[in-house]
Amino acid sequence: MDRAIRQALQKRELVLHYQPIVSPRGYSIVAFEALLRWQHPQRGLIGPMEFLPALEKLGFMYQVGNFVLHEGLRQFGRWLPMLDPHVVLNINISAAQLSHSGFAEMVRTELEGANVPASRLVLELTETVLFARTKRLKDEFAALEALGVRFVIDDFGTGYGSYDYLKHFPIHGVKIDKHFMHAIGHNLIVKAIVKSIIGLARDLDFDVTAEGIETPQQLKQLNELGTPNIQGFLFHRPQSAAAVEKLACNGWLTHPPVTIEAAG
Ligand code: C2E
Ligand code: MG
Ligand code: MG
Repeated sequence: MDRAIRQALQKRELVLHYQPIVSPRGYSIVAFEALLRWQHPQRGLIGPMEFLPALEKLGFMYQVGNFVLHEGLRQFGRWLPMLDPHVVLNINISAAQLSHSGFAEMVRTELEGANVPASRLVLELTETVLFARTKRLKDEFAALEALGVRFVIDDFGTGYGSYDYLKHFPIHGVKIDKHFMHAIGHNLIVKAIVKSIIGLARDLDFDVTAEGIETPQQLKQLNELGTPNIQGFLFHRPQSAAAVEKLACNGWLTHPPVTIEAAG
């Protein structure tokens, strides 16, 4: 695996796919999340859960994270003229990147190079990244915030249950973990957790996105608790840049599966 990964980096086999996130009303696209894939010459497309841990272990996360920012922003910059002004690009950031001094400066350079305004970039962080409340982390955050970049907490609700970090970092939104969505229909505790996350987010004036909506039933149950933005296979799977461009040809319209309407 280690050797294969080193080769993949050399041969530039890592690619980005993009998953649209849609608004609860009209299902128009509000964001694209860039997601890493390994285009393996023999095995085909490999998902990040299979190789990210090895990348992390080998100390490549900083390098790969920079590639994701560079490539994602360049691609988004090309789409920008065709998109509504509120549509943003979401990029996942790892601890290895944020703990590197000069991260904010690097983001600024990439934004400029891609001609993307900072207000169109959203960085996704997990709760664990924010536990290290070091001065450097705070400084990087302050510098990014001054640029106009926004932050959301990914996989919200799966951390350690302390929301203390919300007081210390300029957070703009949360993404509810997909595991909650998968259980929302048959687990009362999960339903209560999702309801409380949506309530908390509303009180704090946060954006909320629910990840992992796969069925009309899940969407219906979610909408009974609130109406966050939606990211899920029901609407769009992660897809190549070329496939995303086909959406552009149709005016970026998302056609709700008929079954959603049928589910009420
Ligand atoms: P994530 O950031 O929470 O990304 C969302 C994951 O949920 C993606 O998995 C996406 O394909 C999946 N997903 C979206 N809708 C559905 C659905 O309806 N059903 C199901 N079953 N899954 C859905 P993916 O692409 O396998 O990525 C897994 C994780 O790998 C990401 O979770 C993120 O933590 C990490 N990752 C991916 N790309 C990057 C990257 O560029 N940098 C870093 N640091 N991490 C990344
Ligand atoms: Mg994410
Ligand atoms: Mg997530």
